Amino acid sequence: MAQKKKATATKSKKSRKAPKKGRSTKAKSQKFVYDFGNKTDGDATQRSLLGGKGANLAEMARIGLPVPPGFTITTEVCTYFYANKRSYPQSLEEQVRASVALTEKQLGKKLGDLKKPLLLSVRSGARDSMPGMMDTILNLGLNDETVEALATSSGNSRFAWDCYRRFIQMYGDVVMGVQKLPGEEHDPFEHIIDSYKEELFPKEKGEIDDNRLNVSHVKELVSRFKALVKKRAGSDFPSCPWEQLWGSVGAVFGSWMNDRANVYRRKYGIPASWGTAVNVQAMVFGNSGKKSGSGVGFTRDPATGEKVLYGEFLTNAQGEDVVAGVRTPRPVAQLKRALPKAFKGLVAVQKRLEKHFKDMQDFEFTIEDEKLFMLQTRNGKRTGVAAVRIAAEMVKERLIDWKTAIKRVPAEQLDQVLSPVFDAAAVKKATFLCKGLPAGPGAASGRIFLNAEKAVEEAKKGPVLLTRVETSPEDLRGMIAAGGILTSRGGVSSHAALVARQMGKVCVCGAADLEVNYKARTVKVAGKTFKEGDYLSINGTSGEVFAGELKTAPSEIIQVLVDKKLDPKKSRDYQNFSKLMNWCEKATKMSVRTNADSPSQVANAVAFGASGIGLCRTEHMFFEGKRIDAMREMILAEDEGARRKALRKMLPSQRKDFQGIFKALRGKPATIRLLDPPLHEFLPHDAAAQRDLAKKLGVSLASIKKRVEDLHEFNPMLGHRGCRLGISYSEVTEMQAQAIIEAAILVKQSGIDVNPEIMVPLVGFPRELELQVEVIHETAKKVFAAKGVKVKYMVGTMIEIPRAALVADEIANTAQFFSFGTNDLTQTTMGMSRDDSGSFLPNYTELDIISANPFASVDQSGVGQLMEIAVKKGKSKRRAIKLGICGEHGGDPDSVKFCHKIGLNYVSCSPFRVPTARLAAAQAAVS
Ligand code: PEP
Ligand code: MG
Repeated sequence: MAQKKKATATKSKKSRKAPKKGRSTKAKSQKFVYDFGNKTDGDATQRSLLGGKGANLAEMARIGLPVPPGFTITTEVCTYFYANKRSYPQSLEEQVRASVALTEKQLGKKLGDLKKPLLLSVRSGARDSMPGMMDTILNLGLNDETVEALATSSGNSRFAWDCYRRFIQMYGDVVMGVQKLPGEEHDPFEHIIDSYKEELFPKEKGEIDDNRLNVSHVKELVSRFKALVKKRAGSDFPSCPWEQLWGSVGAVFGSWMNDRANVYRRKYGIPASWGTAVNVQAMVFGNSGKKSGSGVGFTRDPATGEKVLYGEFLTNAQGEDVVAGVRTPRPVAQLKRALPKAFKGLVAVQKRLEKHFKDMQDFEFTIEDEKLFMLQTRNGKRTGVAAVRIAAEMVKERLIDWKTAIKRVPAEQLDQVLSPVFDAAAVKKATFLCKGLPAGPGAASGRIFLNAEKAVEEAKKGPVLLTRVETSPEDLRGMIAAGGILTSRGGVSSHAALVARQMGKVCVCGAADLEVNYKARTVKVAGKTFKEGDYLSINGTSGEVFAGELKTAPSEIIQVLVDKKLDPKKSRDYQNFSKLMNWCEKATKMSVRTNADSPSQVANAVAFGASGIGLCRTEHMFFEGKRIDAMREMILAEDEGARRKALRKMLPSQRKDFQGIFKALRGKPATIRLLDPPLHEFLPHDAAAQRDLAKKLGVSLASIKKRVEDLHEFNPMLGHRGCRLGISYSEVTEMQAQAIIEAAILVKQSGIDVNPEIMVPLVGFPRELELQVEVIHETAKKVFAAKGVKVKYMVGTMIEIPRAALVADEIANTAQFFSFGTNDLTQTTMGMSRDDSGSFLPNYTELDIISANPFASVDQSGVGQLMEIAVKKGKSKRRAIKLGICGEHGGDPDSVKFCHKIGLNYVSCSPFRVPTARLAAAQAAVS
């Protein structure tokens, strides 16, 4: 009889009798309550006022779907509630009374009536859905008298008393704050049920089915529940339905600010100022017998995108039972046999919903005595793979146009279509343990942990799988931290499945063969016992669970585009992806380049649709083998002669790398940045490495040590790096310019077009750039003369320190292009180290000081303002100046959209983010 877990927020011990009224007179005339049913006031466009649920209930009622009547109290009341010490606008009570009366009239029932009592549900409903985060009350209106009336009118006493039992449990918990006390292991209501079952069936071991309790047993539970409420809350359970109603409305508004709602809002960037609406609706009973039931459905499969009626149901159950993961529901296809009339209705609803809403819908339904009722619909959350497939197929079905298709795929989810699957050879060898439901696609291996806090802790050390009987909203932090989620109970719409899908987490749920033992902290399956910390692997696409850590393999799209091992015609995923990318190409105004330093990275990025290189970090070309020795020799050189000697060693490998890159690009532009080595990253710090280098260079260990000490900087990130190096030692710039131009000439001579753009880093003063540009042009001239061939090239700069943005007009005198280095621009604008700020930034997000990590998503009002200034000033001097971004933000959808807004020509990101950035750029263009 476990109910869905409820809020942990402190609840008032008093039940709220009548609404506290505020003083606002302006609020008096305002409409706060919107009806739906025979008379419907609202519609789907009013999400911000009525919340997603309220707006769509109204819309469904409008298009004639079977919606039980009721009304929505607007989000404006929520705002008022918090602005006015949890009181309501004056006219609210009157408006609610009128709407209850209207609902009563439509059904011929009355709240508190002793013959035909009206029972209500009270649910939250924010603008964006926040599944399971806020509170719900069902069966409101029951008391010792109305329960008898319900028993008589339904002809089912057991059912009526069970509704009453559920109501006291929910209301007692949510409104009156009767919850687990510190030190208690179980929910107090559940504890009463369990001990009573033990009293009744002392000899039986294991779980005792609720159906074994007869009406007198349930009556006994009701009386024990009431005693518990009185003891814990200090007052009687309220019998007046109006008091119950206001208590519930207040609790739902109150739950907007509970801890888990706050965590959820922070994660999904939902502003607290939106508020929630409250939906009050006549109850329909899925638990009134065998011909009744409740379920959730999707108009297409949310995991794969396949066009099938998808979902699950439970007979003789209320909606909460389906999502609570307590009983494992049956696939909705089985409803055809179980309740054929209702199934037929559901298929008709599926078609009607898609035709009307023109998107995949996720809906809740209840069947009361074979009659179908719709309780909710909303655009369904889907995996990245499903999103692409649904968008592509809906265009084919002429439900939407291609521009809408672009908007339908959340850019941050596109990564999922590239996410790894298990390596087929590894799966063949792996020990298969059991199968659950595939609830979040992809492959994940990790150490198992059975509670959320532990998972959060351990995730810092390496990937973990949060493994539980079922999850509840309390587990949210652990779910965010885990690489994958595995549960033994619950269906594809259980909490674990819904949340995992939304987060793009790999998830297998309802793996019934798993015995999760919280006390022993073990998981038993297939005759084996796994302790916390042992490895398991889960396949969220097939539902399979394996022992140990499995190697992963690339997705179909990677196999087509990168590995070139799969025939594109044989991959539906690839076909859909490619359609979407073509539409993006058609729509986009900004191009997408890549940050790449090797020909293979370039090849990957070009396969994903990159239009060139936005940043080639030349220092990355020296990290390995002999190359790092030459680089170290150059850095440690004590005079120009020694430096030139080292540079001569570096030249051939540089030239070869550039040749490879130009060839891979075939004429696409390549922004090559001059050396920007944070010197400390290249120097040998430990004794062994220093000894090794001394030997290689044929110098004394002492001289190496001394030079390392000389070069020590307290703030290397603000030190002798970027163009400062080229200014101190112009021979470094000379060598690089020579390598670039010579490579360009060689590739051009082989018949392949080249388009080099030489970029000077960390410029803050116009004169810095002028000096470096002089060296570049001089060197180019010499190379042209020596080779007797010329190539075109451009010279520009990064804008990555605030001064550069502020004097961008002067810099544009020399720079033919700007590329925003937002990693350093963020670091220097905020005065926060890009390497170390992870220690305090999470706390800053928790405390709402920042809304997102500024090193991941452009801080638009601060750093973004500097970017806008630079764009404006740069264009004022050089109208056609080329503008791009090459910081990590170039692959972040929100930042990409911001770049579109301020008029950049391109964004540049890592190769595997290119599709995401292309989609975000296209979305910016079509919206
Ligand atoms: C930047 O600072 O944004 C940038 C791209 O350069 P790097 O990350 O190499 O400092
Ligand atoms: Mg930088």
